[in-house]
Amino acid sequence: MKQDLPFTPKLLDRCISCGYCLPACPTYALTQEEESSPRGRINLMRAVQIGELSLDQTLEQSSFCLGCRACESVCPAGVEYGTLLEEWRSAAWQGKNRSLILHLLLFAVNKAWRVRFLGLFNLRNYKKSEPAQYSLMLGCFERGLFPGVSAAAATNADVSVCSSQGCCGALHAHNGELDRGKEMAAELGEKLPGKILTTSGGCAAHLASVLGKDRVIEYSQSLAARIEQLQPVLINGKRARVALQDSCHLRHGLQIFNEPRAVLAQLADYVELPGASDCCGAAGTYAILRSKDSNQVFDKKAKEIAKLDLDYIVSVNPGCTRQLKTQLRKRRIKTKVIHIAEFVALSNKL
Ligand code: SF4
Ligand code: SF4
Repeated sequence: MKQDLPFTPKLLDRCISCGYCLPACPTYALTQEEESSPRGRINLMRAVQIGELSLDQTLEQSSFCLGCRACESVCPAGVEYGTLLEEWRSAAWQGKNRSLILHLLLFAVNKAWRVRFLGLFNLRNYKKSEPAQYSLMLGCFERGLFPGVSAAAATNADVSVCSSQGCCGALHAHNGELDRGKEMAAELGEKLPGKILTTSGGCAAHLASVLGKDRVIEYSQSLAARIEQLQPVLINGKRARVALQDSCHLRHGLQIFNEPRAVLAQLADYVELPGASDCCGAAGTYAILRSKDSNQVFDKKAKEIAKLDLDYIVSVNPGCTRQLKTQLRKRRIKTKVIHIAEFVALSNKL
């Protein structure tokens, strides 16, 4: 029983302090300080749990952590670090500890009508087929920033589209409003019938954690049955040269990473980015709230992308799309950034 403790005891107890997670952690790589590692952070949580430290004293590390969950994939004890981080922020990021910008972001997507407003300026005509194989999730900021992604997914899959849907609550769950985040996922689950098709890795992992994996399908998974029908994307008569940037939550939360690679290998000359599984520094709100650290996290990736002479770097999450576009533009790297649904749509045009 958790009672009034900030952390679920059995989740906190699972860490055996082996340190296998340290080399996988991008913030530990930046500082080489134990406090900035998963093990160090779990020790901070334990100190809070027994009253040795206040939540305020751990605020910096709760925010410096990217929430990428790379530590989970290498942990031999099965520590659910992502859930612990959600509990940490829900306890610590309250009142004065929440910045105005974060207040505004959470406010903007808290109600379905506000989310609909975000998409108003980018209205699309979706193909509607009822009943359809999947219900398409339009996302919150994705429908405002990258409306072409849902439009492409809607042409490439058998979907029904409910335009009055709200946000899945991932933003809330990852930023100090875990209960509200779960409520929003449940509301979306009621609104969208059957299996929910999502083009966002972060949303897929959050929805699956609340509604169950059986209710959620990520876009590249949905193509599995007809992958061989996809035609190559050609540039000047040659297959496009592409690499993938993994979505952290898709990879470490749902273990989905072979599926987008299989789609891209069918469509193009696929090259593996050496650090494809490393966080790009977008990390939900991180690139906005901690832009300096986010830039630093991206440095290594920028060099890798520049070296590979790619036509496209492909993303499976809107936050990563935004980060890749912004960072590559800033560094004058000409590689184009595209979401996998839009890349598949290019194939269909040829
Ligand atoms: S989180 Fe996992 S890998 Fe890291 S120290 Fe704890 S048990 Fe070891
Ligand atoms: S979530 Fe990512 S940044 Fe945070 S402790 Fe784990 S590996 Fe490090």
